[in-house]
Amino acid sequence: MGKKSKKKKGRNVEDLNERERVEIYGRAAKLRKAAINKKKTSSKRLDWKKNVRQGDYDQEFSEEKRTGKGPKSLDVWAEKALSKAGEMKSLDNITEGDEYHRGVLTTVSRQGGILLHKGKIYDYMLKPEMLLMQKTELAVGDDVLFSFDREDHCLVEQRLDRKHILSRPDPTRPGVERVIAVNMDYIIIVTALTSPDINYNLLDRFLIGVEQSKATPIICINKYDLLTPENEHLLDDLKNYEKLGFEIIKCSAETGEGVDKLLDTISGSTCVFLGTSGVGKSSLINSIDPELNIKTSENRERAAGRGRHTTVMAQMHHVQRDIKLIDTPGVREFNFLDIEKTEIQYGFKEFTEFLPCKFNDCSHEKEKGCNILPAVESGEISQSRYDSYMKIYKTLDIKRLGPKQRDNLLF
Ligand code: GDP
Ligand code: ZN
Repeated sequence: MGKKSKKKKGRNVEDLNERERVEIYGRAAKLRKAAINKKKTSSKRLDWKKNVRQGDYDQEFSEEKRTGKGPKSLDVWAEKALSKAGEMKSLDNITEGDEYHRGVLTTVSRQGGILLHKGKIYDYMLKPEMLLMQKTELAVGDDVLFSFDREDHCLVEQRLDRKHILSRPDPTRPGVERVIAVNMDYIIIVTALTSPDINYNLLDRFLIGVEQSKATPIICINKYDLLTPENEHLLDDLKNYEKLGFEIIKCSAETGEGVDKLLDTISGSTCVFLGTSGVGKSSLINSIDPELNIKTSENRERAAGRGRHTTVMAQMHHVQRDIKLIDTPGVREFNFLDIEKTEIQYGFKEFTEFLPCKFNDCSHEKEKGCNILPAVESGEISQSRYDSYMKIYKTLDIKRLGPKQRDNLLF
């Protein structure tokens, strides 16, 4: 199943923090290279100068393979480097200053991307040590320290701690989290008033995810221009959220109504737009910055119709009022089915003052000693939010269905 867990005295590579691992893997690569060179120079003494000059990893590996002694994995060398470094006290931290500057990653690909520093964008590459460490995962929104390796080009040296993480389970690798975006101050949950009709259960589902990320939610009701006396009942349940103190913005990407209020709220911050397809996320982003010209659903369908498959990378856009918008296709497909059952209740903030119930794993369905049920009875918790909680709680039982089947059930 999992990896063998070797019990050893002192620290293991897995125990190290990000910065320490980057350093140790850098040292490991040097140790391995030195060992390979040493072996080659002793076996082919006459040719040693040439060997050193041609110090290319891949070449050396294939040579080792031919001799039947495969290269040891970098992890093994990392353990050696760690024991050499003692208890890591000798590892120095780098700090922001003349040499190292702070930036935020606006795109991330395997080896580099674009970062934003003091309002200007620069291409970056990763420091070789960071590249070697396949476990280093960088995401759009990451704060980093970098140095300039040449004019207008940077080398990312270190990832700084993350404030907020929005992630979801990898659909193809169970148990693996895929980070969607990090360090956003606000997560703007976009829903349409109608077309498609506002779905409060879905809104609650998004709120659970926002709660987990620790960012602040903003509920954005788009397509407000479509409000009519016939559909205004769709807003009835919104009062529950107003009472709970959520920031709610009613707007229209079509007419521009309410967009200024949204801009006032998110001015100077980093945000992500979350919501199902068709609610108007792309249109809203375009109304904030028309130059971005993000494809709305009609254009997307037209492109798909032509059989063109476009994979769009996650990207951060720096727009007016120093707003950093993170837009990712992953966000568009977001759902929270793989959340633990006991986590759901924390997404319902009005529940928390009544918790814990008598039993820690109380489902709040019918247990004796439940504190939530009487609160629903007395009206302190609204019936519709409670029903929504129960519905999400129960849908978790369909976790084992395929992604298509699940989405059909949900949306
Ligand atoms: P996304 O999938 O969330 O990015 O949604 P899109 O931005 O692609 O919008 C989906 C559809 O809704 C498009 O046909 C838009 O023109 C339309 N739409 C978006 N915002 C509004 C709005 O405020 N009012 C109206 N009436 N239609 C809108
Ligand atoms: Zn309970």
